[in-house]
Formats: sequence, structure tokens, C-alpha cells
Amino acid sequence: MDFFPIFLNIKGRSCLVVGGGEVAARKVALLREAGGHVTVVAPQLGPKLRELVARGEIHCRLGQFEPADLDERHLAIAATNEGEVNAQVAAEATERRIPVNVVDQPKLCSFVVPSIIDRSPIVAAVSSGGTAPVLARLLRARLETLIPAAYGRLARLAADFRQEVKDKFQHAPNRRMFWERVLQGPVAEMVFAGQEKAARDALTATLASESGEPRKMGEVYLVGGGPGDPDLLTFRALRLMQQADVVVYDRLVAKAVLDLVRRDAERLYVGKERDNHAMPQEDINQLLARLAREGKRVVRLKGGDPFIFGRGGEEIETLTQEGVPFQVVPGITAASGSASYAGIPLTHRDHAQSCVFVTGHLKDGTVNLNWSMLAQPQQTVVFYMGLKGLATICRQLVAHGVSPHMPAALVQQATTWRQRVLVGTVTTLPTLVEKAKPKPPTLIIVGEVVKLHEKLAWFEPHETFANQAEHESAEEKAVSGSVTG
Ligand code: SAH
Repeated sequence: MDFFPIFLNIKGRSCLVVGGGEVAARKVALLREAGGHVTVVAPQLGPKLRELVARGEIHCRLGQFEPADLDERHLAIAATNEGEVNAQVAAEATERRIPVNVVDQPKLCSFVVPSIIDRSPIVAAVSSGGTAPVLARLLRARLETLIPAAYGRLARLAADFRQEVKDKFQHAPNRRMFWERVLQGPVAEMVFAGQEKAARDALTATLASESGEPRKMGEVYLVGGGPGDPDLLTFRALRLMQQADVVVYDRLVAKAVLDLVRRDAERLYVGKERDNHAMPQEDINQLLARLAREGKRVVRLKGGDPFIFGRGGEEIETLTQEGVPFQVVPGITAASGSASYAGIPLTHRDHAQSCVFVTGHLKDGTVNLNWSMLAQPQQTVVFYMGLKGLATICRQLVAHGVSPHMPAALVQQATTWRQRVLVGTVTTLPTLVEKAKPKPPTLIIVGEVVKLHEKLAWFEPHETFANQAEHESAEEKAVSGSVTG
């Protein structure tokens, strides 16, 4: 993060704008909207500022900027078209520790003015730190369309009821759930439709009908987090992740995906490394049931799809036995993610009419699979958890009739910036992999379709994505706060 975003209280405080033209007038207008007392310094003023001065709404001193103009100011903006004057304002203000902005010169600024979406008291600000103002404005335009115009009224309604709701729900999670229901339900719709009195009555009635007691039973959402790229989450997955009180996750879940869980949610890591389960499956099953019985909304976040080699079935079996309500949200499984991002279609009219997903996990050092079924022609075979057993897998396939020249690929960390695709044949892949030492998780794809990778590969992972992703999530962490707490 290059700038630390904050919202400054300038109500009734003295602010200086140096410059008398159009740009200065726009900044003056913004400062006044936030209640700032504005003084303008410029040799001459444009019509807009002249009018404000005439109406007594701002002060002005006609003349060149002087350091003394900064006396007693809480904030300064330089908006002249003379570089030297702007630089002087910046230097003098910086020396006096007064926050200063120089229009269009981020290097001279101690603060930048973001693009603003004003639904007071809700204010959203978007900034590119001065590097790409057009991009920030485009994003702002998108947000404008997403945030109903009456959002501010909704916030004011919530503020009026805040104390009452707090008194009723001593237990913070229940309070939050109440607000989430209200702010996304009919009350909110009434506010957006301009029926404020009806909204107020409905909210009063809803509040009266609540017992305020902690909810007896929570719910478990078994959510597929996909193979890594957070863009591949479903809308439902994201929505439930944002409502979670607690998230139970394991090693396969990408950090970028985990970052999208509601920030205040408790995070419980239950490990699950290959051959080294940090928490036995039975304990995980029990943990989910216990958390839900405490009234919590539990997101059980899994890599890929929960029902594909994810032991999701076992987890909800326990929940069924214990009478805990649950939902299952599918995710993009590793085979789909790897295939798409590596440009290897899993089926193809000319090469494969079927596709099999199998586990290559070694039990007692061997892989027990129906090899003759896997060795069928015109078929793609995808091995999950197959890295350790790769040599055995390839040997067995050939022993059961697969051509030694059959193309085979290993996809490392598919859909992330660390994705790597190693392509060979069932004869060469084990050696290739041994040399390349890929990092888990990896997936193995065997079949004629692998040949298409050469033509169809399109995804170019690059380290800058990683930096960007980390940066973005850090920025998000800093700006989004709880509005209902
Ligand atoms: N439920 C998961 C699979 C869990 S088994 C799903 O549907 O994808 C774990 C195995 O999935 C790993 O050993 C690896 O073979 C595969 N896998 C998961 N994510 C992967 C990724 N991003 N890239 C490659 N393989 C992945």
C-alpha cells in the first residue's frame, strides 16, 4: 500500500486552497461538502470562486502564495498551474506537518484525493495513489451503479436503531446476524423505494418480535473454494464466506481465497497435509457439529470441489446424524481448473470420449486401481494426489496396454501465478518431474488430449500477479470496516 487510507474530519476547520481556476474551484467544492472552512489564495479568481466569495461562503486573499498563508490551517491543496508555486506550497506545508495535496503531482503530496462515492454517512473512496486516476474513476463508476442511491438513508436508519439493537442483542454475533437480515431484507428495500416510515415501522416490529436470545443452532456451509484463483469462486460461495462466524480450512485452500472470508470470522486451520493429517477426519467432523451447535455459521472451506476427493461426504454424514443443518456449495475441481488453465480439454471429439478422475494416493506404497479400465483407449485419465506414485502409475498404465508414447502432463498449482505445466509421455514424465521438482498440489493428466496443450495454452502465470494479489488484499483489509458492529 503506497498510501494509508483514512477519512479526515475537517468540519469547521480551516483549509487552504492555492489557485483560483476551475480545478481549485472543484477542490473548494469538495472541501465545503465535508464542512471545511476554505480560504483561497490566488492573484485572481475565476467566476465560480468569485461568486462564493461574494456570497461570503469562502474567504480569499488576492495575491501570491506566502508561507504565512499556511498559519493555523489543517489542510492545504495546491491547484495552480505554476509548478514552482505548487512545489513551494508542498514544501512549506510539509515542513509544518500540514497534510498537503498538489493536484496531479502525487510525488509532492502527503495525501491524495480519491474518487468518491458519496452516500453519506456511507462514503466509499477509490484511489490509485495518483498512478492511474482514470482507472480509479472507472471503478468508481462501477461502484456507483452497485450502491443504491438511498444507501445513506439506510445507514441513517441503522444509526437511529443502533443502541436499541445493541441493548436487545447482548451477544455480538446475534446482533450482527440481525443487522445482516435487516440490511439485506425488506426493510432495506422499503428505504430504497422511499418508504421510510414503513421501513421504520417494519424495523421496530422485527426488533420487537426478536427474543434476543442466542440462536440455538447454527449451520454449516461446505464450500468448494476452487483450485486457487479467487475469481473462480461461485457467487454463493463468496456470499456465505462473507457471512461466516468461523471458517474451518485446510492446506489446499489458496490464501487469496481465504482472504475473501469475512475479516472478523474466526479462522481454524485443520491442516491435512498429505500423509500427515494435522487433525483426524473424525475430529474435524465433530468440530463442525460442535461449532454449529454453538449457534455459529460455519464455513467449511475446501480446495476444489467438496465432493471430489474432498471427504465432504463424511463431514456432512456426521452433521446429518447430529441434526445440524448444512448446505453444500460446489467448487471448480482441480481437474477442471488445471485442464482449462493448461489448455488441455478433458474431452475432445477426436481424442477422448470419456474422462476418469482417480486418486493416485499410495496406500502401503502401492496404488490399487482398476488398471485395465484406466488403460482404455479414447479416454483421459486425471490423477489427483498422484505425484508420489507417478512412476508406479505410468509403469502400470503401460503394463496394461497404454502406448509408451501416450502424452502425459503434470500441472503444478493450477490457476495460480505459480502454475507450471510439464509435458511428456508416460515414459518420460517421471524423469522430467524428478528433475523439475514441482511444488504441490499437482495433478496428472494422461491422454491424447495432452498434445493440445502446445496449441491451446493461454494462461501466462507471472509473479507480478502475486504481488498484485497480495497488494490488493492488503488494501482491502485496510479500507473495509464493520458497519454494523
Ligand atoms: N477436492 C479437491 C481435491 C482434493 S484432493 C478438488 O476438487 O480439486 C487433493 C489433490 O487435488 C491434490 O493432491 C492435487 O492432486 C489436486 N489439486 C488440488 N488443487 C490443485 C491445484 N491448484 N493444482 C493442481 N492440483 C490440485
